Amino acid sequence: MATKNRLTYSFGAGKADGHARMRDLLGGKGAGLHEMTRIGIPVPPGFTIPTEVCNYFYAHRQHYPNGLEKAVADALHKVENNLGRRFGDPVNPLLLSVRSGARESMPGMMDTVLNLGLNDHTVEGLAAQSKNPRFAYDSYRRFVQMYADVVLGLKSKDKTAANPLTQILESKKAQRNVRLDTELSADDLRELVSAYKREIKSRLGKEFPEDPYEQLWGAISAVFGSWNNDRAIAYREMYRIPHHWGTAVNVQAMVFGNLGDDCATGVTFTRDPATGEKNFYGEFLINAQGEDVVAGIRTPRAISELEQTMPKAYGELRRVCKLLEKHFREMQDIEFTIENHKLWLLQTRSGKRTGFAALRIAVDMVGERIISKHEALLRVEPDQLNQLLRPIFDLQGKQRAQREGHLLGRGLAAGPGAATGRIVFHAADAVEWHGRGERVVLCRIETSPDDIRGMDAAQGVLTARGGMTSHAALVARQMGKVCIAGCEALQIDYAARMLHVGSTELREGDWISLDGSSGEVFRGEIQTLPSEILQVLLTRSLDIRQSEISQQFMKFMKWADQTRKLGVRTNADQPDQAAIAKAFGSEGIGLCRTEHMFFQGDRIQAVREMILAEDETGRRRALAKLLPMQRQDFKGILDIMGGLPVTIRTLDPPLHEFLPKTDGEIRELAQVMGVALETLRHKVSVLQEFNPMLGHRGCRLGISYPEITEMQAQAIFEAACELRREGKNPFPEVMIPLVSSRQELHEQRIIVERVAKQTMEKFRVKVRYLIGTMIELPRACMVADEIAEEADFFSFGTNDLTQTCLGLSRDDAGKFLPSYVLQGLLPEDPFVSIDRDGVGALMQIAIAKGRRHHKGLEMGICGEHGGEPRSIEFCHQVGLDYVSCSPYRVAIAKLAAAQAALRK
Ligand code: PEP
Ligand code: MG
Repeated sequence: MATKNRLTYSFGAGKADGHARMRDLLGGKGAGLHEMTRIGIPVPPGFTIPTEVCNYFYAHRQHYPNGLEKAVADALHKVENNLGRRFGDPVNPLLLSVRSGARESMPGMMDTVLNLGLNDHTVEGLAAQSKNPRFAYDSYRRFVQMYADVVLGLKSKDKTAANPLTQILESKKAQRNVRLDTELSADDLRELVSAYKREIKSRLGKEFPEDPYEQLWGAISAVFGSWNNDRAIAYREMYRIPHHWGTAVNVQAMVFGNLGDDCATGVTFTRDPATGEKNFYGEFLINAQGEDVVAGIRTPRAISELEQTMPKAYGELRRVCKLLEKHFREMQDIEFTIENHKLWLLQTRSGKRTGFAALRIAVDMVGERIISKHEALLRVEPDQLNQLLRPIFDLQGKQRAQREGHLLGRGLAAGPGAATGRIVFHAADAVEWHGRGERVVLCRIETSPDDIRGMDAAQGVLTARGGMTSHAALVARQMGKVCIAGCEALQIDYAARMLHVGSTELREGDWISLDGSSGEVFRGEIQTLPSEILQVLLTRSLDIRQSEISQQFMKFMKWADQTRKLGVRTNADQPDQAAIAKAFGSEGIGLCRTEHMFFQGDRIQAVREMILAEDETGRRRALAKLLPMQRQDFKGILDIMGGLPVTIRTLDPPLHEFLPKTDGEIRELAQVMGVALETLRHKVSVLQEFNPMLGHRGCRLGISYPEITEMQAQAIFEAACELRREGKNPFPEVMIPLVSSRQELHEQRIIVERVAKQTMEKFRVKVRYLIGTMIELPRACMVADEIAEEADFFSFGTNDLTQTCLGLSRDDAGKFLPSYVLQGLLPEDPFVSIDRDGVGALMQIAIAKGRRHHKGLEMGICGEHGGEPRSIEFCHQVGLDYVSCSPYRVAIAKLAAAQAALRK
């Protein structure tokens, strides 16, 4: 570390070496303390050891840079001079707090030591100074306990046992026959300190350090060490905080909220972090230390009550909070202490908040001219918008369920929202129960396209297997269904109609609740609340004038629309989904998976007839039955979307997916169709593939059976021509899946063009249309220049592109991918967020090659990544024209696109 770099940054008495923009070096907490000091807010003096020292510490086998010791001693002298107290002075001792503080706040993840500097001598000075021996010994007791835990590493033997010092405290309370620590006397506390020290000696074989400087260096090292404790590492992984940032250490003079009834400590937010309302919100405790508020040892009181108890300090706190919010131009989360009626600020940081609060605060602050519209757009996490659209659990109900031990397990939070219903195990039962007016949750080991109606009927879907792009998850998102996938703790027994989680047993009809935003599964019923925005936009059961959140949402989305460069389309297969997408302002359909239409109503019969037909004539007969049904669906979607583009994909999945699976089902179908059981069985077995995902699917079906593509093109163009005749302006984009060569697309294109021409001639109208392809195989990326010659557009199918680029099966990867991510072998699930280095690089090759040979080639993405904010940012950066996502993610995608444009 270069010697010119400062090793400590001091603050106190209105002067500070640092400021708010030095977060990288001083950490969030440090930068806040320096800035508050600068602007004249009462902050106990102290100093910050910067994050650079943490990084040096780890790079040099836990040694410190030369000169740190002197720098710390000098900085400490400044604090001493400032307050007129000396560190280690037996008469008038200075006590310190030593706290961590990273660039991004990591609440509770790293360590803190309070009341540092106490020993058998200084405690007497503190007792005399404060004229309160009980307080002095209570502080000493707390310090020894905290230091033993954090610095000396005195932990309980196993996770079920209490900490040994806590056990001593508990037996002291029992001995004195009291319930609370506050009921112990000064003598009790003195005895406790001695008992603690004996325990430390006997367990660790060393004395508790009496030397305050030794204590200080122990605490500093412990705080730096805590940057790499398990929970801090886990937190950084969860929130993608880089491991190389390091933490700063803040050493600060103690102020006491526990000196008597004219003292208090608490936490406030400048606006309500749950709703965003501009209320002064917070909690406090009289005669307590900060940790008591956080740990919930005593129930804190609402901040409004402080006005009655300590009006002057309360007035000052309100003034300071207003000042801080104005200064930082952001909602603040503030820690304060009142010592003998005097207010001290210990921390200010931007407050964490719900999606509701994030939206409201952003919109309100624009109205209050605190921030610009662009800043407002950057203040809301796109995924937070989910919370505004989903039914939500009543928070108290969920907390109660947690307290009562009803949490069964966790899976992948695949479809956000809250769902409560009765357990059913089969799609048909879901439909039947739903028909009787029951709310149901469909619980499956895994789902298949067959379950689609059951999923539609259910409040939510829970599966034991499958990942984020598993069928259940993507269909659920598209439908706006709550879904938890891959909840491995579940053992489902279809036959017994039961599920087990450990020793808990649930039967069909029992209540279960899914929090699809967190992945938590609960036993029992939890009340839900509907989303206001959906009532306004979709069901139109609520007037927007009566819904403030909807007004704010609409305003905010308008700003996003004005800012983004990427178009936002929707993946929708049915007119009702298209209508939802339209209500959210989707600019077209980016993917209509026509196979999903094959499952509706009694169509499956015709589909099966087509598959089982002996020859082309038989197939054409069956296809003729499907034609009017498909035409009707396409007409509905094209109509709803008006003149917006509607990308309709020709049949994609392998044919066996449409056939019955169990022996009973085959038998039943044979009877209905009048074919011999053996013939049907044989056909089913012939169609089975070892690896269907890489088998006879995608355009390969249309190549083998051109009449399927022909029928689908006919349905599309007849629908479009009918609409055209009605004076409408439909805009179909026909998309061919799983293409890997120019020739494949060429063959399919000829069919579609021929049918389009014939149909338009027959109807005597002209329809605008495009023919393009999905780019979802690595080879397609590499020969994109050739494919582009046959294509009017490309749409990246990143689900299959991820599967084929990484050689990872989308249906099986859920079993081991989570552990890969956990072990750091992959930064995250590539089915969730685009693997930029691999899949992303292939996309870039395809984009460059495609555009070089075909100027103005339209390019979008319709894989699940099209609704994921970081992938959307990537799509913006590589210059795609649009993203397509499930209807309920349209708002999220729009915001992510706006943010990408603002971040450049
Ligand atoms: C894809 O592969 O990304 C895609 C959109 O197609 P599907 O998920 O239907 O295979
Ligand atoms: Mg695909």
